[in-house]
Amino acid sequence: MTNATSKTNLLGLTQQKLEAFFEQLGEKRFRAGQIMKWIHHYGVDNFDEMTNVSKVLREKLKVCAEIRGPEVVSEDISRDGTRKWVVRVASGSCVETVYIPQNGRGTLCVSSQAGCALDCSFCSTGKQGFNSDLSVAEIIGQVWIANKSFGSVPGTMDRAVTNVVMMGMGEPLLNFDNVVDSMLLMMDDLGYGISKRKVTLSTSGVVPMIEKLGEVTDVALALSLHAPNNALRSQLVPLNKKYPLEVLLPACKKYISGLGEKRSLTIEYTMLKDVNDLPEHAAEMIELLRDIPCKINLIPFNPFPHSGYERPSNNAIRRFQDMLHQAGYNVTVRTPRGEDIDAACGQLVGQVMDRTRRSERYIAVRQLAVEAEVVLPLRDSNP
Ligand code: SAH
Ligand code: SF4
Repeated sequence: MTNATSKTNLLGLTQQKLEAFFEQLGEKRFRAGQIMKWIHHYGVDNFDEMTNVSKVLREKLKVCAEIRGPEVVSEDISRDGTRKWVVRVASGSCVETVYIPQNGRGTLCVSSQAGCALDCSFCSTGKQGFNSDLSVAEIIGQVWIANKSFGSVPGTMDRAVTNVVMMGMGEPLLNFDNVVDSMLLMMDDLGYGISKRKVTLSTSGVVPMIEKLGEVTDVALALSLHAPNNALRSQLVPLNKKYPLEVLLPACKKYISGLGEKRSLTIEYTMLKDVNDLPEHAAEMIELLRDIPCKINLIPFNPFPHSGYERPSNNAIRRFQDMLHQAGYNVTVRTPRGEDIDAACGQLVGQVMDRTRRSERYIAVRQLAVEAEVVLPLRDSNP
């Protein structure tokens, strides 16, 4: 349900904010912990199920509060276990969430905005423009919905989500406060208890916000690099004109060094045929990243209509991977998952409502960038 009400949605409140809420109600702060467990551990959205809360308080809560996730429009399950939800947010747009089970982990790719203002040239979300920021309840609600869907007994839910990547629609650092609160809930033991190393924020490089992020949290950071020099990066990621590599990379390095030992930056590199996949680009990457602790994730481009780009051949991808690998980098290549339910990166599924709404037109948007990371065999010469 996305109808606006005047009730406070408790799903989107961090522990601190929920404590303040109970204080305002004239109740004890410890109620926050009780309620959070019901919401986030048991997936409960009905106050009557909260049996350790007095009936009087439950009635009081029903009047002024609610627990409301975004509306699930569809849920699909792939043959390979990948699950995909389309959810409708308050602005009327739909965004997507994808769950990838792999090697005992369950990674959830979460959206932070409907649409995106940054207009990267190879990204269909960017092509649609910006529609709205997601609220905390709409962001954490994606984790809530995913875990709930695995609960075998009503009123309970499995901790199926072990990792979260903020790699869905939108630029998370441009919805900073809501994303930070959502990540706090992901990591809180009263929320989802996910370790800071298993919550990853991906950014196209909003430098001042990377600095601010380091002041408030220590989650893992992924940088969408896509090019080894400013000229090419500015073509692919227009934000690079504002925050070029010479300010971006030091900001990332500083963030990573603030995390302590053995933490590294993930570099995402969407590979575009004959644009950024040539040996000269790999050679530039090797120099550019030399003094940054990082692992590199190559993402073969997933085409969408009229993108103007193509996916490189497997040989070109392996050649690129080989060069970086031989220079000592840890390099993985993402392979698509959930293709039978259109859950592979670049496939069109989500919908963003046209901001003007004049024609009630819906625009297809890029499918989420959630794919498993695997190391391609380096010497395999399949085309
Ligand atoms: N706005 C953030 C997070 C969302 S995009 C960011 O840009 O980092 C997450 C990833 O999806 C980005 O690394 C981007 O390169 C990738 N991506 C977008 N469109 C793609 C496409 N068509 N094919 C492959 N990867 C794509
Ligand atoms: Fe926005 Fe990320 Fe797409 Fe760029 S790649 S347009 S920052 S969602």
